[in-house]
Amino acid sequence: MAAAETDRDAPSALCSEFLNFSAKDTAAKWLQVSNLPKEVYQHLACYVPKIYCLGPNLNPQNEDLLAQLLLQSPLEWYLCGEEPSLGLAKLEQNNQPSQLCGHVFKVGEPTYSCRECAADPTCVLCMQCFLGSVHKEHRYRMTTSGGGGFCDCGDTEAWKKGPYCQKHEPNISDSSQKDPLANLSDEMIARTYNVFSIILKYAVDMLTWEKEDELPEGLEPPARGDTYYCMLFNDEVHTYEQVIYTLQKAVNCTQKEAVSFATTVDRDGRKSVRFGDFQFCEQAKSVIVRNTSRQTKPLRVQVMHSSVVAHQCFALKALTWLGQIIRYSDALRRILCQVGLQRGPEGENSSLVDTLMLCDSKMWKGARNVYHQLFMSSLLMDTKYKKLFAIQFAKNYRRLQTDFMEDDHERVVSVTSLSVQLFTAPTVARMLITEENLMTTIIRTFMDHLRHRDLQGRFQFERYTAQQAFKFRRVQSLIGDLKYVLISRPTEWTDQLREKYLEGFDAFLELLKCMQGMDPVVRQVGQHIEMEPEWEAAFTLQMKLTHIISMMQEWCASDERVLIEAYKKCLSALTHCHSGFTDGEQPITLSMCGHSVDTIRYCVSQEKVSIHLPVSRLLAGLHALLSNTEVAYRFPEQLPLSELSPPMLIEHPLRCLVLCAQVHAGMWRRNGFSLVNQIYYYHNVKCRVEMFDKDLSMLQAGASMMDPNHFLMIMLSRFELYHIFSSADCRKRYSRENANKDVVQQNNTLIEEMLHLVIMIVGERYTAGVGQVECSDEIRREIVHQLCIRPMAHSELVKALPENENKETGMERVIDSVALFKKPGVTGRGLYKLRPECAKMFNLYFHHYSRADQSKAEEAQRKIKRQNGEDSVLPPPVLPRFCPLFASLVNILQCDVLLGILGAVLQWAMEPSGGHWSESMLQRVLHLIGMGLVEEQQHLIGSAEDHDTNFNFTLKISRPGEAPANTPSILALLETLQNAPHLEVHKDMIRWILKTVASIKTTRECTASAPPSDSSGHSQEETVRDKDKAERKRKAEMARLRREKIMAQMSEMQRHFISENKELFQQSLDELDPPPPPLWSTAPVRVIARWSVWALGGGVRAAVRGDRW
Ligand SMILES: [Zn+2]
Ligand SMILES: [Zn+2]
Ligand SMILES: [Zn+2]
Repeated sequence: MAAAETDRDAPSALCSEFLNFSAKDTAAKWLQVSNLPKEVYQHLACYVPKIYCLGPNLNPQNEDLLAQLLLQSPLEWYLCGEEPSLGLAKLEQNNQPSQLCGHVFKVGEPTYSCRECAADPTCVLCMQCFLGSVHKEHRYRMTTSGGGGFCDCGDTEAWKKGPYCQKHEPNISDSSQKDPLANLSDEMIARTYNVFSIILKYAVDMLTWEKEDELPEGLEPPARGDTYYCMLFNDEVHTYEQVIYTLQKAVNCTQKEAVSFATTVDRDGRKSVRFGDFQFCEQAKSVIVRNTSRQTKPLRVQVMHSSVVAHQCFALKALTWLGQIIRYSDALRRILCQVGLQRGPEGENSSLVDTLMLCDSKMWKGARNVYHQLFMSSLLMDTKYKKLFAIQFAKNYRRLQTDFMEDDHERVVSVTSLSVQLFTAPTVARMLITEENLMTTIIRTFMDHLRHRDLQGRFQFERYTAQQAFKFRRVQSLIGDLKYVLISRPTEWTDQLREKYLEGFDAFLELLKCMQGMDPVVRQVGQHIEMEPEWEAAFTLQMKLTHIISMMQEWCASDERVLIEAYKKCLSALTHCHSGFTDGEQPITLSMCGHSVDTIRYCVSQEKVSIHLPVSRLLAGLHALLSNTEVAYRFPEQLPLSELSPPMLIEHPLRCLVLCAQVHAGMWRRNGFSLVNQIYYYHNVKCRVEMFDKDLSMLQAGASMMDPNHFLMIMLSRFELYHIFSSADCRKRYSRENANKDVVQQNNTLIEEMLHLVIMIVGERYTAGVGQVECSDEIRREIVHQLCIRPMAHSELVKALPENENKETGMERVIDSVALFKKPGVTGRGLYKLRPECAKMFNLYFHHYSRADQSKAEEAQRKIKRQNGEDSVLPPPVLPRFCPLFASLVNILQCDVLLGILGAVLQWAMEPSGGHWSESMLQRVLHLIGMGLVEEQQHLIGSAEDHDTNFNFTLKISRPGEAPANTPSILALLETLQNAPHLEVHKDMIRWILKTVASIKTTRECTASAPPSDSSGHSQEETVRDKDKAERKRKAEMARLRREKIMAQMSEMQRHFISENKELFQQSLDELDPPPPPLWSTAPVRVIARWSVWALGGGVRAAVRGDRW
């Protein structure tokens, strides 16, 4: 830069003034004046332009030195009332610092978090604190900071234990509750207050100043020069190369200089690229604008008067000075907070802090960084003002987020990123929920920015413009904020918290309603699709919301009243979603094995179907929680049980599972990869908890409230298999259906999938609330099934398990109970190996196995058995008991329709397969029979406890088939099949079944003939066993009473409902024969009545006790 030389001598011109200047005298004068702000401004107006911006390049050393002597020093003299070095030392001595470390991290600095003690993963320690803390002995996680956060050492809310390192350990005389101002004289307080308000106001005015050629009142320089800067600003649209190229053209510099300009612009957010008179600068500006405006909006350039730039430079310096001075004393810090948050003359949201936040997106990067730092070292370090600041932040939340949507800077330099510091503090978060309705605000703001909807009001991501896509990426940070707010569950609920949480829950349901049914697909026949439809945005949203959905449920589970209300709200949201969904679908009646049920005609393969059903899935989760928390048994009268329409509950989750089955059967090949990907994520460990798993739970919930025959018929119909099993001669499939080999093949896969689904509905009981298990049992079982595939390294296991919102799998707590760790040998990694005694938990049809996992696990398990010299049969495992609300599901195993299906497949298997049955199909049938037997054995063992002796599977499978009279019984078929030469691979399982049947029969005969209390001899061991038995019996009795109470209440409600709707009820009784009435799509009331008919006809009791089928 040629101009640089001429300005080198500038500081020397100041020398005489510098020599005559006395900071002490200036401060003394200030103490006398009546209008201090005016006086200080005059001082700044005079000196600031003489120190800063005297040439094209800044000269930081000179400037700093002069600013220190001429500007800061008088301020410090005034503040201390004496020599600043003495005064500040005294302040520091008297200070009783708070216990917060608050060290602000630089980019790339290491941070440490404790996986055992951190309240959430955002709680971190600086290295020094970490090394002096108890956590260095725990399981910890080290990361590098992206810059911006601070050390949480000393924050008791951030750590479950060990909140202080040695250095920040509080003294015995805890002074943290005391007012830090108590140590300061009144005069000192008054002077500090004066200086801070003037300087902070000055800095805010200058940093938010938008005029290029004028200064705020009182700051006009006494002698106005005619020098300007051409100021180039950073944006995130243009590339480095573009900027460098443009600068070379515009200001005639070398490439090296251009690179240096560009680097500074990128780092600080702005840089002057030319200094001179107005014309000279304006010229450069127009070249830059012209050169960068072709494809995008041009680079931002301003021609600014040098005195404006000078004051902005000093404003930044002043903020840094404030940050330094408050370090001497918590009292000064508190005064600064007070000054910052004091309302201005414009009333609400007009404090200096508000002004800064609200102008954030207009400021350049360097300015933002400086004031964010000051916020962190002041407002966020003061317990009292942190809360007040949080309130202002929440009040401005919507506006700040909206500004951020338009901001062309990344989030790390946006004030919105401070949310993590405010919302993760549990007491602050809870206060913001109750007082500022923060949950609702966040969710509504989020919705506001996703305006693109289809005709049904669902989100639509297809044909997004680049601008919309950008916004969609940005708006996701709001989900992060919601996560922070929810991360710690309340231990105590107030009425106000309940009210506001439920309001937030309502807003959340509105959001989920926009997702229910989004991105529907229709099966493509004939031609392949032309363009892969957009699917990633919807899944991104689902994935981002996964933990939120789970946390919402956890919050609900922690308070009975909230759970009940949330359940009601969710049910009514679901009903609302479905009212528009199924218009025009034809009612039909299905009949099989002497049972019939009304449903609608709907084919997944022909109509729209969506994989996104968050409302259904949330309800499924809440339903299991009602069961798990026992709220369902204690307050049934408060639950809308009579409004539940089981067919409605199961419809959409069932469609989704059928879609997966059809994709598997190759029926959707022409729909391309987008669908394959969706199905993949639906089952993937990242999504399944709030997708696949919940669909299964919902089917379990719905089926548990239905006649199992009805349930299975509807299921067959949705699988488009009803026609195969409902015909009278279904046992002769081969002769009827061999026309089209592809169709037969497809149907075989669908039958396999359908049987697998039945296995899962009856057999998946490791969700707390569905089965009588705890969360740790669930994880244990996941690990067992992973290790059944092969021994695995720690990292492999972690990958296979879902992480919670804290990135924890819960594995460490349970791993030792199911696995043995084998230390790495010379070559490999250490591996976890399944404990041999856990192999009996193995379930070949574990719901999280892919087909590949399943066959690997099967092979591995059989091999182990053979090595141990055992029979290689893999019978179904003994399962935990269902919770009462789901108990009736076991009856699916012994209902007529299922037995009909099982019998048909066994009959087909009599002939060697010519394509009319498959090995997998038969294996699933044998597994289901095995499940029935294991269940019966369990019922027999527990019969005295549970009065549940009516589960008599062996009896059912010994009876000849009913529908076509006198067909052989299932047992008879199996006896024949055990000798069939083409069934060699299944023989061990058939043998196991026949052996088990025999053993059950023996047990039944024994218990029938011998009195139950017969005991031979009284060893001590047996007394213990008797005691155990008595205790179990007592517990079972309690459980039974509870169950009867809820069931009685349910049927009471239905009786009440029926008496109120007598006409309808009578009508539906009359209409039990076809033609059927329209179903729930058009007349939901009708179906409830219908379900009630079933429920009252002994069904409710039967559902529990199993004495009907
Ligand atoms: Zn620290
Ligand atoms: Zn510390
Ligand atoms: Zn720890």
